[in-house]
Amino acid sequence: MGRVVQKYGGSSVADAESIKRVARRVVATRQEGHEVVVVISAMGDTTDELLDLAYQVTPQPPARELDMLLTTGERQSAALLAMAIADLGHTARSFTGSQAGVITTGTHGNARIMKITPGRIESAVAEGDIGIVAGFQGVSEDTKDITTIGRGGSDTSAVALAAALKADYCEIYSDVDGVFTADPRIVPAARQIPEISYEEMLEMAACGSKILHLRCVEYARRENMPIHVRSSFSTKDGTWVKDLEDITMEQAIISGIAQDRGEAKITLVGVPDKIGEAATIFEALAGAEINIDMIVQNVSQVSTSRTDISFTLPKADGQRAVQKLQEIQAEVDFSDILYDDQIGKVSVIGVGMRSHPGVTAKFFSALAKDGVNIEMISTSEIRISVVVNEDDVDRAVRAGHTAFGLDAEGEAVVYAGTGR
Ligand code: ASP
Ligand code: MG
Repeated sequence: MGRVVQKYGGSSVADAESIKRVARRVVATRQEGHEVVVVISAMGDTTDELLDLAYQVTPQPPARELDMLLTTGERQSAALLAMAIADLGHTARSFTGSQAGVITTGTHGNARIMKITPGRIESAVAEGDIGIVAGFQGVSEDTKDITTIGRGGSDTSAVALAAALKADYCEIYSDVDGVFTADPRIVPAARQIPEISYEEMLEMAACGSKILHLRCVEYARRENMPIHVRSSFSTKDGTWVKDLEDITMEQAIISGIAQDRGEAKITLVGVPDKIGEAATIFEALAGAEINIDMIVQNVSQVSTSRTDISFTLPKADGQRAVQKLQEIQAEVDFSDILYDDQIGKVSVIGVGMRSHPGVTAKFFSALAKDGVNIEMISTSEIRISVVVNEDDVDRAVRAGHTAFGLDAEGEAVVYAGTGR
């Protein structure tokens, strides 16, 4: 007997039949004696379709109206799920994010959850009902307008609600069996990870793993809310994301490998080695709200007193960044801007590397043996990331997976799921 928040992704509620299947699953949890609150995503590709529609109407949909439009996707599935549960003889009540008390900042399309006042959900649950909340949305504290919290945001809605409702844990259902040691579409021998720490999951999400929204993991870590990532298409146990101290299994040195093809690399050639140059460069980019990832700067050459600075950033911001840099080129006096978006980032992640020497050497030797050239390197306490040519990404992931002994025996199931 406890309280659980379950979140179902778009692929779990793609059509009427799937909604009924999810309803049976929710009811089964209720019948086990749990109090259940469900957070739901829009059906299948609804969010993309609504976006398409908006851009057919105008090339520049106003952000406020886009949020009004996109949030209807989650309202549809919430109401339909409540109906399907009623059909099974149980009572459920659906709520919009705003009705559920999800209070956000006012940035349309990318609002942040500030607090949750879930009074109406609490009373519904107290009266024996199953609470159903439309994910991905809230209401702005200042303007009272409806907001969305970023693509894939329902994960975050679920964890935030679980924390506000003091649930025992939060289950996140998609169409894959949990978190894998690598993307099973690249590494068929990838295996499902039974337990992983918040820290590792954060690095995985930040390094391109799409299974959980980055902000949802940040939220879960802050609130110490355990997440059970599992498939709505099977009853298998999935992956528990929780505090490192609560992990009972023996820790592998490397927990997983992630790849990200969404970044580009910019190199500024011949930057004068003077105080304040790097500050000027990155201030210009920060002013344009561009997020920088890896940065590499070498010592300057004695003969020229100049050096090169390379960094990575989201591909989507590439052209804007180049423009900004051109604007300051004369002032800073670097000689050239090189732009390369044919790259990928491959990261190995594991808390075990804190206490094991030689992890970097092992990874780099594996890459060398497979003929993968490393263009950039960055590390944290529990992560090593390399930038490689786009065409080498898959090979680099496989090489790392094998080198760290992560390959499952025999061929693991290749999941074709989208992870939504
Ligand atoms: N439906 C929204 C999206 O597709 C939110 C979510 O599914 O998490 O991004
Ligand atoms: Mg998702």
